[in-house]
Amino acid sequence: MKDKIWLSSPHMGGREQHYVQEAFDTNWVAPLGPNVNGFEKDLETYLGQQAKVACLASGTSALHLALILAGVTHGDEVLCQSMTFSASANPIVYQGATPVFVDSEPQTWNICPSTLEEAITARIKAKGTPPKALIVVHLYGMPAQMDPIAALAKKYNITLIEDAAEALGSTYNGQQCGTFGDYGILSFNGNKIITTSGGGALVCRNEADKQKAIFLATQARDQAPHYQHSEIGYNYRMSNIVAGIGRGQMEVLDKHIALRQANNQFYQTLFKPIEGVRVFAAPAPSYVSNHWLSAIIMNDMGHGKTAEGLRLALEVENIESRPLWKPMHLQPVFKTAPYYGENRVAETLFEKGVCLPSGSNLTDTDRERIAQVVQTYFYR
Ligand SMILES: *Cc1c(COP(=O)(O)O)cnc(C)c1O
Repeated sequence: MKDKIWLSSPHMGGREQHYVQEAFDTNWVAPLGPNVNGFEKDLETYLGQQAKVACLASGTSALHLALILAGVTHGDEVLCQSMTFSASANPIVYQGATPVFVDSEPQTWNICPSTLEEAITARIKAKGTPPKALIVVHLYGMPAQMDPIAALAKKYNITLIEDAAEALGSTYNGQQCGTFGDYGILSFNGNKIITTSGGGALVCRNEADKQKAIFLATQARDQAPHYQHSEIGYNYRMSNIVAGIGRGQMEVLDKHIALRQANNQFYQTLFKPIEGVRVFAAPAPSYVSNHWLSAIIMNDMGHGKTAEGLRLALEVENIESRPLWKPMHLQPVFKTAPYYGENRVAETLFEKGVCLPSGSNLTDTDRERIAQVVQTYFYR
């Protein structure tokens, strides 16, 4: 059996172990310490916009804290992009709130501004008030249409939460994804553009929110010599060991983004002669994707060629690919949640799309193997 080619696997830069070793040498093996502070500083510098970053156990925990800071509570409604990974929506339910799912538009595959406004006005009609918060996602690293989306959030006084778990290093109008919302979240899970094995971060607009997030993430301890609590807390802080990996990864982030973008170019060239296949790419120069994952859409190919057929052909050669994320409104667990999306954009993407190997550690040999399967599949 040939070696496995993964969709997206961890890619260490080399200096990660140096920071982890430093943590051991100084016995900072705790959920706080110099690596946590250092990683937060690195992220703040990278993101710009005077972002304030709290490093946490996961992207999911960051979303949960964002909802808590937004004041989302039992009985509230929260708007959420349907075309996403379940972790975008689950924390809404942790808070006892109801997700209201919204369809995507075909340019960025992210939440559609006009459908979003329809959803907001419909919820105002049904409930008397607009939903409390909005979770917008930058899917596969592609920035969402942040100008109209942020304008709607402002118009209806809805807290804007940006799920940038897949989009560290992507920019919209030159500004880093994760810095547009009232809150942004990042993920450093094993398959993300940089990884700490597991981890995440909450991006805040001010120091007070960052400190509140850290307070909640460390069991909400009041100032006292004994353990004293006036609020429910969480054990959501990142450890100093894990943050050491993050510091090493920050040193190679830009390099790894360039490599993922080069993978996207490779797929553009590979699929160019194949009619009916479109490689997902930015709709305009103001959108710069980190191309965390490269994906294709196969439109009415005929001859029995389907996204699933290609996926299976790759699997035979031990090459991992995956259908696009199954929209949340189609998930059994969310079947009773309200959904707005007459245009069926998310459904169509799910039916016709597939994500291809996109790691920054793909080799030329890997790309040759992929090209071979693709050529055989389409020209057989
Ligand atoms: C990975 C991911 C998350 C969750 O991040 P974790 O660190 O795995 O908890 C949230 N949203 C999206 C869109 C993701 O891809």
